[in-house]
Amino acid sequence: MDFITLKRCKVYGYTGCLDFEKEKGQYFYVTCKLGISSIEGKLTDRLEDTIDYASIFEIIKDTVESSRFNLIEKLASEISFRVLKNDSRIEEVHVLVEKPDAPVDGDFDAMMVEISQTRSEICHKAVLSLGSNMGDRQENLQQAIDLLRGNKEIDKLRFASLYETQPVGYDDQPDFLNTCVEFETTLTPHELLLFTQSIEKTLHRVKTIVNGPRTIDLDILLYGTQRYDDNDLVIPHPRMYERAFVLRPLNELGLYEGEIPEDKYVRKIEESLI
Ligand code: ADP
Ligand code: MG
Repeated sequence: MDFITLKRCKVYGYTGCLDFEKEKGQYFYVTCKLGISSIEGKLTDRLEDTIDYASIFEIIKDTVESSRFNLIEKLASEISFRVLKNDSRIEEVHVLVEKPDAPVDGDFDAMMVEISQTRSEICHKAVLSLGSNMGDRQENLQQAIDLLRGNKEIDKLRFASLYETQPVGYDDQPDFLNTCVEFETTLTPHELLLFTQSIEKTLHRVKTIVNGPRTIDLDILLYGTQRYDDNDLVIPHPRMYERAFVLRPLNELGLYEGEIPEDKYVRKIEESLI
């Protein structure tokens, strides 16, 4: 393992339990140690083959300046989370936050908190269902996959074959092309929802009828083994286990072994995505 350390970055912030700490603020020192399995730049001598410490300094500064946490524990953890999300080459982060002017009556150098976080702690497997039944359906699915791949917080993407499917719910519309994708991501479930919605927007999905025709639909099926249920996001997707056009591609990816409802209108086609 190779390491890069930003030592005692001095930044002004507003973390603290007391009102005057949140209002007036104080200086903090942040030391951030990044673990990278092997820094390529040590051989190539090129800036793009290492972690640019200026960009890490910006993350530290921005997090400290914009947060109003009670605890420096939370501040340290937020810094490490943002640093890990910023670059997939960083495997682990160690953050030390010092508070030299902590409101404690006595003689001391600083109050300090140290935390460590690894990539595997914040990286999750996500599975999406994709469908299209307007315009060039295969091209729409391909573009959606290319946009997913282009996100630096998405890695190791795999996809299943294409399945042609008759519509469910609202019948008077063209057939769908469906598939499923799986990838690793450091996006949180809500960040992932916002991103999939931005892809729908980019590909000109227009919402008309519920269950009606669409250039593209991206649904989040699974996010690790976690469960979510709030106003705008339910995971696992509530209808996934009823749908052959979801379960067949999932089975192909080795992500589902159970029963698949009989549906003669779901057929695997020859063409595939790239
Ligand atoms: P559907 O996919 O059911 O045909 P939409 O794509 O129009 O319908 O989604 C409607 C809403 O479903 C979205 O605005 C979103 O907030 C919500 N939603 C809830 N859970 C999920 C999920 N797991 N994946 C995608 N959207 C979800
Ligand atoms: Mg949807």
